[in-house]
Amino acid sequence: MNEGCFLCPRECGADRVSKMGYCNAPRDIILARAALHFFEEPIISGKRGSGTVFFCGCNLGCVFCQNGAISRNFRNQRNASEPVSEEKLAKIILNLRDEGAHNINLVTPTHYSDAIARVLTKIKSELGIPVIYNCGGYEKVESLRALRGLVDIYMPDFKYFSPEISEKYSFAPDYVDVASEALHEMYGQVGEAMIGDDGMMKKGILLRHLVLPGGRHDSEKVLERIAKTVPPEKIIISIMSQYTPDFAPESMKELRRRITSFEYEYVLSVSEKLGFDGFSQERGSSNSSYTPDFSQKTF
Ligand code: SF4
Repeated sequence: MNEGCFLCPRECGADRVSKMGYCNAPRDIILARAALHFFEEPIISGKRGSGTVFFCGCNLGCVFCQNGAISRNFRNQRNASEPVSEEKLAKIILNLRDEGAHNINLVTPTHYSDAIARVLTKIKSELGIPVIYNCGGYEKVESLRALRGLVDIYMPDFKYFSPEISEKYSFAPDYVDVASEALHEMYGQVGEAMIGDDGMMKKGILLRHLVLPGGRHDSEKVLERIAKTVPPEKIIISIMSQYTPDFAPESMKELRRRITSFEYEYVLSVSEKLGFDGFSQERGSSNSSYTPDFSQKTF
């Protein structure tokens, strides 16, 4: 008999065999894509690309998600038709390394964190490149603890401050407190960000924040909360302007536009004042062309 799943803060208790939990992902690992990816921050993608492994399902399910085809409606996706065993996942990771990946970038891994910990335990010593945990920030501390020593770089989002906003857009009114505790744990594991002589990130935290339309004051509070949780000068922050309104529900009028330059620059100036360093985006990057092709067979 399968035990209920309590891997993430949702703590659904679903067995993920006869009944799915909030993340909509079965116990069996379902992947959307595994390939070299060149559109992360330069310290992650480098010249040879980041070895990204996209997991299907998501424990956040944001209403404006631009990867809805794999986070929610993945069942008819080509790559999702068959589950991937833990042995196969290990091989996929090692193959990406052999193709020249600078790192292994596990995208939306939260609901498979137990399987990932088992796989990494087996291959970490021979892998030889950093492992990145690229998540939505809504993580359970106990699940993160199982990854200690296996993950080199945490790349979490920190999306919201206001419980009203996080409930409305991600059905997670406790997001800010959960994400803060998770960030604290991540920093305790990997410490200060380190960039190697080759210009690539080797360890630490690269935290991402997506500025939402009408959300600059919430962004300001997010940055203040992050600065109270970890030393701003010891992490790298990426403030993203790439919000695209195409995927937001028609009923949420406030989300049906791009962010303005004023909104984005306001958030960048707050970030600078608080002592963060990191990345900003060209305003032209706010379109959906950065979404990878999930219909391509890649493993
Ligand atoms: S990982 Fe999925 S099933 Fe497990 S507690 Fe979270 S949302 Fe529920």
